[in-house]
Amino acid sequence: MSDNNQLGHGFLGSINHYMSDAMTYLDLPEGLSERILQCNSTYTVKFGVRLRGKLFSFQGWRSVHSEHISPVKGGIRYAMNVDAEEVEALAALMSMKCALVDLPFGGSKGALMIDPNEWEADEIEKITRRFTQELARRNLIGPGQNVPAPDVGTGEREMAWIADEYVRHAQNDVDARACVTGKPLGRGGIDGRTEATGRGVQYAIQAFYKDDAMLEKYGYEGALRDKRIVVQGFGNVGYHAVKFLSEEDACRITRVIEYNGMITNDDGMDVEALKSYFSENGSFKGCDLGEYSEDVSEGFLIDCDIIIPAALEDVISEDVAEKISTELIVEAANGPISAASDKIIQDRNIPIMPDMFVNSGGVIVSYFEWVKNLTHIPFGLMDRRSRVRNRRVIVDAMETMTERAFPSDVREPFLAGGSELDLVRSGLEDVMLSAYERISKVMHDDPSIKDMRTASYVIAVSTIARAYRELGL
Ligand code: NAD
Repeated sequence: MSDNNQLGHGFLGSINHYMSDAMTYLDLPEGLSERILQCNSTYTVKFGVRLRGKLFSFQGWRSVHSEHISPVKGGIRYAMNVDAEEVEALAALMSMKCALVDLPFGGSKGALMIDPNEWEADEIEKITRRFTQELARRNLIGPGQNVPAPDVGTGEREMAWIADEYVRHAQNDVDARACVTGKPLGRGGIDGRTEATGRGVQYAIQAFYKDDAMLEKYGYEGALRDKRIVVQGFGNVGYHAVKFLSEEDACRITRVIEYNGMITNDDGMDVEALKSYFSENGSFKGCDLGEYSEDVSEGFLIDCDIIIPAALEDVISEDVAEKISTELIVEAANGPISAASDKIIQDRNIPIMPDMFVNSGGVIVSYFEWVKNLTHIPFGLMDRRSRVRNRRVIVDAMETMTERAFPSDVREPFLAGGSELDLVRSGLEDVMLSAYERISKVMHDDPSIKDMRTASYVIAVSTIARAYRELGL
């Protein structure tokens, strides 16, 4: 990382710092850097909803960072500790993320200050529908303009309400359902969206452990198998990431940290059993799969191989950064490491896989969903039968020629012809691996770029700069 930037303060400060640091590696024309750094607009919406016999007021934001390409894309968060600055930081990160993985979206983000646990489902529905009306009235939602998705505190249920409300608002628009992604399957969603971000975390880690040059740079050898993993946050992203890593890559999940306690077992824990326990009890207290501790202040300070923060921003303090003992940190959450902690960790030569790459699986599969909605045809519908027929001809011919039957565990999946889920996973893996190869190549081609975050920002900023230049700016 170059030294000629002051480390930024807060989440937005960190993102601005990373963007301007990347700009020092690029020869951008005067004014363009400023154009890319600036957040284009942030709208504050305030509205009232009549609930429980009285009027409650709510405040929300939708921020648009970069419109070098349309529509802009980014989730909507429901939480109490949100503000305009955090939303702007998350919107900037979305611009970087989409540019890094080469999706045709600018960056946006939204938030509503609400504690979802305080309200009944029908009340959240009313609030969500009113919020959608406010966004629609200000052109802050629309399939060609601004396309939200789930984030912390929201999921496919909220996305279904948003889509339904928007479709009422735009009845003549045949593409209206593409106004939001992360919808349930029956409401225009796509198979594999719920698992997408966690699945992408798995692909990111697999790519690192297959990259000989990267392993050599950090003096590592060996494969992913049996790595000891600590995850913070056992929600959508954290749960899916450790589920796939334990079930398919034989990793050991040795600690899971939640807001109200953590559980530890050096031999590794059964993720599905842990999930059922947590869903039923709301905590790991009393769970016999590992040792429970209510104090999570030293959650990251355990000897392990991979740390996956998958909950919130700014969770690794400078003090923890000094002491952490791991081989790799994988930012599944957005912004879990401040610029100051990042510098300490990089100076200790511990690799960090950055959020903008690691958690891009969500927006990548959202892109597939958006395309599916706009084309109005499920993936694979036109060619599945003909593909299966052609494969059957090959299998029959080979069996006749060799006078031997294909093993059924090879034959059946080969003939199945690729479900939507297969296609989504394959597309996700391809987009993520291509992005990883770009990151690795940039570091290889320019040895002064020493870490994956800087390389990612260099790629993203130069992609956005190219788009602005092509517009004559
Ligand atoms: P989620 O709400 O499903 O899960 C978050 C989990 O973190 C919950 O289980 C919550 O109890 C836990 N948590 C909250 N505070 C905590 C604390 N202080 N310590 C430990 N655990 C805590 O949210 P999610 O969708 O899994 O998102 C997690 C992170 O990933 C966020 O930073 C989000 O912006 C990012 N992200 C999510 C997606 C997606 O597709 N869901 C995509 C990209 C990035």
